[in-house]
Amino acid sequence: MKFFKYCITFSFSFIFLLMFSSCQLDEYKNDKITVVTTIFPLYDFTRQIVKDKIDVKLILPPGYEPHTFDPKPRSIFEIRNADMFIYTGEFLEVWANKIIEVLDEDSVTVINSSQGIGLLSHDENHHASYDPHIWLDPNNAIIMVDNILEGIVKIDPENKQIYEQNANYYKDELEKLDLAYRDLFENTRYNTIIFSGHFVFGYLANRYGIEYISPYKGFSPDTLPTPRKVQELINVIHSTGVQIIYYEELIEPRVARVISSETGVKMLPLNGAGNISKEDFNQNVTYLSIMYKNIDNLKKGLIYNE
Ligand SMILES: [Zn+2]
Repeated sequence: MKFFKYCITFSFSFIFLLMFSSCQLDEYKNDKITVVTTIFPLYDFTRQIVKDKIDVKLILPPGYEPHTFDPKPRSIFEIRNADMFIYTGEFLEVWANKIIEVLDEDSVTVINSSQGIGLLSHDENHHASYDPHIWLDPNNAIIMVDNILEGIVKIDPENKQIYEQNANYYKDELEKLDLAYRDLFENTRYNTIIFSGHFVFGYLANRYGIEYISPYKGFSPDTLPTPRKVQELINVIHSTGVQIIYYEELIEPRVARVISSETGVKMLPLNGAGNISKEDFNQNVTYLSIMYKNIDNLKKGLIYNE
C-alpha cells in the first residue's frame, strides 16, 4: 500500500514536471546561473563561495523538517531548470533521490556533498543505518565546501579564481570553528551532552570524543521516543550529575520538559542547523553563527572553566 501511494505521488510529480518543462521552459530560463540546494547548511556554504555571482535557492522552507519534507511540483520544476542541484547525500533527503532519478544530467549538474566523508552508522536489527547529519563536524563542513566548489567551478569556470578565494577564506573560518570546539571540550567539567531531540550531534561527539545521548531510535525524528529510552536519559542524568538537558530548536520540547520537571535539570537549546526558523532566515543567521551560539550554550551547560 505504501509503495502504491509512493507510485501515485511519484507519477503525479512526474506528469507535472513534463507539463511545466514543455510549455513554460523558455519564459522561466534566465541568464544568471542558478544553483538549487536542499537544506540550510548547503545553501549557506554555497552562498559563501559564490556571493552574488550566482543565484542560490533553498528548497526546504524555513521551519520545515529536512527528513520528512515533501517537495511541491514548483520545487521540482526549479531543480529541473537549474544549472546545478546540491543535496546532502543519499540518507538525508530521501525525497531528493526521487528527483535525481528523473533529472537530465546533461543540463543539471548534481553534487552529492557527502562525497569523501566517512559516514557513521548504527546497527539496527542487523542492518546498518547511516547518520546523515555530517555538517555538524566542522571538518566535514570543509570537505562539503570543497565538493561544492568543484561543482561551481565546473559550471562557471570563468570566475574560478574568485570562487577559490572565497572558499579558502571560508575554510579558514571553519578551521577556527574546529579549534573553538576543541578548546570547549578540553575545558568543560562534564563531557556528556543529554539531548532530548533526535540523534543529530553524532559527528560532533565523535570528532571531539564526548558522550552524546538522545532518546530517539533512528537518525530521523519520525517515531516518538519510548518511555524506556526516556528513562535511560534520566538515569544518565543521575549517574553523571549533568545539570542541563538540551532540546531541538525547531521542535516543541515536550520530552525535555518532562525530564526537566522529573529531575530538576534546566533546559537549553542546541541547534542542529539542518534548517532554521523564518525569523533567523530573515535576520541572515549563518551556519557559523549557529555553531558559535551552540558553543555558548554548551559552555553554560557543561560548565566551562575559563
Ligand atoms: Zn535530522
